Amino acid sequence: MPTYKTKAIILSYMKFKEADKIIRAYSPHFGRISAIAKGARKTKSKFGARLEPFSYCELVLYKGRNLDIITQIEILESFSDIRESLKKLAYVYVIADLILRSGAESDPTNIFPFFLFSLRELQKIDDSLLRQWLITFQLKYIILSGYKPILDKCSLCGKKIEKLTKNAFSFKHGGLLCSDCSIKEETPTILENETIEMLRDLSEKDIKNWNENTYSDLAQKECQEVLENYIYYYLESKLKTIQFLREIEQI
Ligand SMILES: [Zn+2]
Repeated sequence: MPTYKTKAIILSYMKFKEADKIIRAYSPHFGRISAIAKGARKTKSKFGARLEPFSYCELVLYKGRNLDIITQIEILESFSDIRESLKKLAYVYVIADLILRSGAESDPTNIFPFFLFSLRELQKIDDSLLRQWLITFQLKYIILSGYKPILDKCSLCGKKIEKLTKNAFSFKHGGLLCSDCSIKEETPTILENETIEMLRDLSEKDIKNWNENTYSDLAQKECQEVLENYIYYYLESKLKTIQFLREIEQI
């Protein structure tokens, strides 16, 4: 029976039959994979607690007729701190959801190291940086998927945009509008300068330096809203996980 080995990040699992689990995971060469772990729900299972969401592991699988079957699993990084924090879980599920829904435009060889890095960062930060973590990784994911927002010129006429007091942003055109074009747009979203600065800063800088600056509450709030709507517009997904995050943020 042909077997293969792959690194993967576990995203979720569901119970299957009496004693099995079906896991969904993300791998650097195959993207999303689903596989079955036979007997994983038995107390003496060889899998133990190693199939928990966000575990980074190496899997050995053999090709099944419908689903591939996991024969071995070795944990490389468990990321247990993420699972132990309800807040961190609420944030990481938004990114995991994006990755699960990613289409053909997203190359897993780029997305996988990005996702792994985001988990390593999330593991070590405290709650005050959670929102900035989410904004950064949503924005970078959008850019990796080929939908970088246009923030240096008008997204409709291409004219260079000078510093404005009110910045009109168009989802339809994928970026800022100059004052002439903003009149033509029915309902442009108006963003503060500090929000535009935050978006520009994070989209240009190396992802490794994502937390070297901090941004105002207002900028973070507006960025969060604009990115949620941007994802909705371009990736056509209204993420249920965002609703869960809203509820957790109230606690
Ligand atoms: Zn224009």
